[in-house]
Amino acid sequence: MKICRFNDNRLGLVDGDSIVDVTPALEAIPPMRYPAPLGDQLVVHFATVVARAQQLKASAPRLPLADVTLLPPVANPTKIVNAPINYVKHITESNADPGIKHGRANITHISDWGLFLKATSSLVGFGAEVRLLYPDRRNDHELELAVVIGKQGKNIPEAEARKHVLGYALGLDMTTRGKELLSWRKSADTYAVLGPWLTTADEVADPNALDLVLKVNGEVRQNANTRDLVYNVDKLVSWASEKYTLYPGDVILTGTPEGVGPVQPGDVMHCYIQSVGEGEMRVARQYG
Ligand code: MN
Repeated sequence: MKICRFNDNRLGLVDGDSIVDVTPALEAIPPMRYPAPLGDQLVVHFATVVARAQQLKASAPRLPLADVTLLPPVANPTKIVNAPINYVKHITESNADPGIKHGRANITHISDWGLFLKATSSLVGFGAEVRLLYPDRRNDHELELAVVIGKQGKNIPEAEARKHVLGYALGLDMTTRGKELLSWRKSADTYAVLGPWLTTADEVADPNALDLVLKVNGEVRQNANTRDLVYNVDKLVSWASEKYTLYPGDVILTGTPEGVGPVQPGDVMHCYIQSVGEGEMRVARQYG
């Protein structure tokens, strides 16, 4: 199943080129009182919402996918966890390119760096646009397989990791290159893209064997496969959960393969991950 959020927080099932509007299924989420509990409430109540959506589906309105504004499929992750250097060829290109390395010591292995967080306020869907904050600096695309956590967990063994995964999406870890800390360069508004929808785990036979392709204005820039992840999906879920309790709706961006490069206002990034989905993301200049 491919499930999406669109327009003014509507809920949809993606069916080819159309969306089935099952927004009334959101009424299955119990009302909340302050303070909001940790965890995205759509994900916490996912099974109930989906059961209601399936009942509604036959008589629900359908609309063309091309006509809606897609929102991130998860509205309220408690955190966006990121793997910084998780493909060998990306480590190699990072060490070779002064525009990425910026005088830092040689990059070696993900175990030396750990994971990092992006601000949840940086999150947008494919219906938005990436708004470059410093268009005069180098801002790179990083296409990454995004894992969406379905079930709370702490110290999750690798062998149990998949039980905590609800599904997958495309992630863009937009990055301003420079000397500053990762959370400063990668957490500007619109610098975390998630979507175009969430594909549930049952539709992805093996998340550690998926083709990823990113094109900018039609030109292939990144073309890789998640089998080359240094720490695969299972290891990342387990490792992240040693440090952080993972809550429903939390997102893990698994790291970018080689081929990262700059984008400019006006560019269009076409993103594809096998079995998960594809979509286009426009690049603009930050307004105001
Ligand atoms: Mn990244």
